[in-house]
Amino acid sequence: MPIDLDYSPEVSTLVDRTREFIREVVLPIEDEHGGDITAAGSDTMRTRLQEAAREAGVFAPHAPLEFGGLGLGMSDRAPVFEAAGYSLFGPLALNIAAPDEGNVHLLAEVASPEQKSRFLEPLATGAVRSAFAMTEPAPGAGSDPSALRTRAERREGQWSITGHKWFITGADGADFFIVMARTSGEPGERGGATMFLVPADSPGLRVGRHISTLDRSMVGGHCEVDFDDVRVPDSAVLGAVDQGFAYAQVRLGPARMTHVMRWLGAARRGHDIAVAHVARREGFGGRLGDLGMIQQMVADNEIDIAATRALLVRACWELDRGETAGDSTSIAKTFAAEAIFRIVDRSVQMCGGLGVSDDLPLARLSREVRPFRVYDGPSEVHRWALAKRRIGAAKRALAEVSD
Ligand SMILES: Cc1cc2nc3c(=O)[nH]c(=O)nc-3n(C[C@H](O)[C@H](O)[C@H](O)COP(=O)(O)OP(=O)(O)OC[C@H]3O[C@@H](n4cnc5c(N)ncnc54)[C@H](O)[C@@H]3O)c2cc1C
Repeated sequence: MPIDLDYSPEVSTLVDRTREFIREVVLPIEDEHGGDITAAGSDTMRTRLQEAAREAGVFAPHAPLEFGGLGLGMSDRAPVFEAAGYSLFGPLALNIAAPDEGNVHLLAEVASPEQKSRFLEPLATGAVRSAFAMTEPAPGAGSDPSALRTRAERREGQWSITGHKWFITGADGADFFIVMARTSGEPGERGGATMFLVPADSPGLRVGRHISTLDRSMVGGHCEVDFDDVRVPDSAVLGAVDQGFAYAQVRLGPARMTHVMRWLGAARRGHDIAVAHVARREGFGGRLGDLGMIQQMVADNEIDIAATRALLVRACWELDRGETAGDSTSIAKTFAAEAIFRIVDRSVQMCGGLGVSDDLPLARLSREVRPFRVYDGPSEVHRWALAKRRIGAAKRALAEVSD
C-alpha cells in the first residue's frame, strides 16, 4: 500500500495562511527588535501578535476545538509549526511557543474537567502564560529526573511543596506552574514524583533571578523559582499521585517534536537567506554559488532539512497512533537538534562577515538553536537511552539462547 504524504486541503490552506501571516506581519516585527522579545515588549507584544494571529485565522492550531483551537494532531502540526517557526516570534504569535504549547497538550490529555476550565482554557486562548518546573540545581533533577529533590508532603489536609527549580522558561509573568515534586521515595529512586498545578500567586512561591542565556526570543526568561512551604489542595494534583514521571513522558515526546518543527522553520529561514546570498554574491569570475565547496554546504543543508522532516513524519505518525514513540522521538530529536545547528552554522559561513553580523538574522538564529541540543534531553542522554535499550534487548536474547 502506498504511503500518503499529502496533507488535507484544510491543513494545506492553513500552512499557506501561516506562511503569509509570518512573512507580512511577524518577520518585520522580529527584525525591528533583533529577535529580542524583551526589547519588543514581552507580554504586550505577545498580546498584539496573538490578536493579529486570531484575525488571520491561524491562532492555536494545536489546542482542542472546545477551547477555541483548531484541534490538529501531531502529523498535521508539523508543516504549520514549521511555517510559524520561520520567525522567532511566530510560535508566540500562534500561541504554540514552549512551554505553553507542551502544557496545553499535557493538560488536554491528563487534567480533570475542573482543571481544564481553570487552567487549560485561559492558556489555550492566550489569556495567560504558564511554566513547567522540573529542573533543579545540582544535585537535583537535570538530565537524570530521578534526582528530583523538590518535595510535596501532606500537612493539615493539604500538600506542602518545598524546593528550588531553575532554568524555568516563562516563569516571570506566568499565571501558573506545573511543578514536578517528590511525593514518595528518595532522590535517585525512579518513581515517586507527582505533578501539581500551582497558581503563581501562591504564598511561598518566588520567581527569582533570570538566568542569562544565549537565546532572547522566549517571553518570561529562564528563571530560578523557589517553593517554600507552598500549600495547595488535593485538587491541584495533575492526574494521580506518584505518576508524575509517566505524565512527563506524555508531555515530553510530543513537546520534543514540536520543538523540532519550530526550529526546522528557523533553520530553513537561515538556509534561504544563505542560498539567496551565494546566488547573488560575485567572486572569482562568477557567483559564490558556482563554487563546489559552497554547493556542498547548500546540498548538505538540503539533506539535513529533508532528513529532519522524514524523521518527524515517522515520530508524529507513531504519536498520532497513541504510541509512546520513545525511540522515534529520541532519534528525531537528537538528529534534528544537531542538523538544525549545522544548517544555521553553514548558512552563517556562506554569508561571510555578514553572517556573523546583526545585519542579517543568522547570528541570532545560531544563538537561538544552540540550546536545543541541551533541553528536551541532551543528545548524549538520548543516544545513551537508545543504546541501552538495544544492548539490553541483545543481552536478553543471549540469555534466552543460553538457558
Ligand atoms: C534554554 C533552556 C530552557 C529550559 N527550560 C526549562 C523549563 O522550562 N523547565 C525545566 O524544568 N527545565 C528547563 N531547562 C532545563 C533543561 O531541561 C536541562 O538543562 C536539561 O535537562 C539538562 O539538565 P542539566 O542542565 O542539569 O545538565 P546535567 O544533567 O548536569 O548534564 C550536563 C551534560 O552532561 C551530559 N550527560 C548527562 N547525562 C548523560 C548520560 N546519561 N550520558 C552521557 N552524557 C550525559 C550531557 O552532555 C549534558 O548536557 C531549560 C534549559 C535551557 C538551556
